[in-house]
Amino acid sequence: MCGIVAYIGKKQAYPIILKGLKRLEYRGYDSAGIALLDAENSINLYKRQGKVSNLEEFAADKDLFGHLGIGHTRWATHGAPNDVNAHPHMSMDGSIALIHNGIIENYDSLKKELIKQGYIFQSETDTEVLVHLTDHISKKENVWFGEALRLALSHVVGAYAIVAMSKDYPKRIVAARKSSPLVIGVGTEGDFFLASDATPIVEYTKKVVYLDDEEIAIIDLDEGLKLYNIADQEKTPFFQELEMELEALEKGGYEHFMIKEIHEQPRSIHDCFRGRLNAEEGWVSLGGVRDYEQKMIQANRLIIVACGTSWHAGLVGEYLIEDLARINVEVEYASEFRYRNPIINENDVVIAISQSGETADTMAALELAKSKGATILGICNVVGSSISRITDAGSYTHAGPEIGVASTKAFTAQVTVLTLMALSLAKKKGTISETKFRTLLAELEAIPEKVKTVLETSDHIEKIAAEYKDASNALYLGRGSSFPVALEGALKLKEISYIHAEGYPAAEMKHGPIALIDEEMPVFVIATQGTSYEKVVSNIQEVKARKGKIIAVVTEGDVSVKEMADHVIEIPECDEQLVPLLATIPFQLLSYHIAVMRGCNVDQPRNLAKSVTVE
Ligand code: GLU
Repeated sequence: MCGIVAYIGKKQAYPIILKGLKRLEYRGYDSAGIALLDAENSINLYKRQGKVSNLEEFAADKDLFGHLGIGHTRWATHGAPNDVNAHPHMSMDGSIALIHNGIIENYDSLKKELIKQGYIFQSETDTEVLVHLTDHISKKENVWFGEALRLALSHVVGAYAIVAMSKDYPKRIVAARKSSPLVIGVGTEGDFFLASDATPIVEYTKKVVYLDDEEIAIIDLDEGLKLYNIADQEKTPFFQELEMELEALEKGGYEHFMIKEIHEQPRSIHDCFRGRLNAEEGWVSLGGVRDYEQKMIQANRLIIVACGTSWHAGLVGEYLIEDLARINVEVEYASEFRYRNPIINENDVVIAISQSGETADTMAALELAKSKGATILGICNVVGSSISRITDAGSYTHAGPEIGVASTKAFTAQVTVLTLMALSLAKKKGTISETKFRTLLAELEAIPEKVKTVLETSDHIEKIAAEYKDASNALYLGRGSSFPVALEGALKLKEISYIHAEGYPAAEMKHGPIALIDEEMPVFVIATQGTSYEKVVSNIQEVKARKGKIIAVVTEGDVSVKEMADHVIEIPECDEQLVPLLATIPFQLLSYHIAVMRGCNVDQPRNLAKSVTVE
């Protein structure tokens, strides 16, 4: 996690970096800091615990002149979130400043060695070893700081995106990456912007280079950008044009990014399937993975690896692909998969799902699968992200930038891609009738309009939220592909309102959680029309018999559940297979309203960060 921004050029660096840090705050908000090179070539450091706005307030009356600067918003891994541990970190003589995103796993042994050499550490971070090691090598080998950093990295085990500056090189900035992302924007005035993702860069330039693993960038105002690998061989930069639009990064009149993103879903789902299906002509095609479909059909099994919300989308995918295409699917937590010595071979296809495309555990799971010969595919939202670059092929979700830390539109877009994938595989394999295929295509095309209808229930959901906002626990129940929707509903509530919530398969409730039910306990149930409807109705009865409160998501016009539930939220009728895309929305709205009523920071919930680039 952590957000990195840096600037070198003719403009004033501070406003650019500050604005960039605000854009990257979703990546961490434990502390923020900026280092600027002033007119006398001294590095001035401004660091503050907490959000970027604290730093802004603190720096407001300072002299913030500087054409070269680096900034950081932190999600602490090593050391408490305080002023001292905030980045940038400086060498003892104040000549080098450095920011870092990632974890230096062998920091302890490096630190001990440096202490022996006389280095005094200010912070508890792993990062500080990088700056002292660079300084040490620079002095010992008599090399400039960029070369020293390159040599230092050969001693480092772990993950990093690093940007460093030195008072002795006012025209230079040095960056390196391994596992954590870094993008370099090439400005129109011979200037350069560096950041963890493209959002701080897009308003200045659309010409970017994504740094690859183990690459080092040396930016010099006279010589331009040069790339090297760790072994110091020069590489040719691959310039890309950003497709992102600036408006997508603003709140556009909404109070929070999360509610904006919830309301964007009719469009984001549509963007996701645009050009990939045509109900009238009866075809579906996921261009990115088309060449791998035969491989998927013949595979031993498809293994979906993901974390958090993406893992829930994976579970929906499992139901759909197994049911429609009759291919064996397993869904794994990437963090478990990578460490449990899984049995994988070249007949397996591993599909990673990640909004950011940077999730460290998911990346590592893919690397493991690749090393065992499996085909690796990706479903990501962020174009050009690490996962999208290391996979054999993949499909983008096209949901647009998601800034709220709690995922909403990325989830529905992931489910949409998986639905398209299931349909395409089923069609190719001949496991779906033409009528069912066409019906599902037409139904999928109609989903964005139906999502709009669900969004209109927001005021009704707000009233329900008011009734349950003080609950300390909540249970979410669903069956079939609505079970992952229950998990996702519970996760949303936990993440942003800090109410303890659990998602369960409805029938499992009687094997434990039913003991929790009393008149205080809200139970959110997906009870839409479909094969398990009657069963879910029985589960609702079981809750009612124990005086639990039932809030049910039902199909428009439902009668039975309405009679027993305390509240119902109606969603339009749709094929059972597509219910997750609609049933998720009321839970997103519910969590949002509850969190707002409880005064929680909806877009940046405590302890969380959006792009989990550490294990
Ligand atoms: N490990 C560094 C720290 O704790 C950076 C953390 C990160 O990238 O999330 O300060």
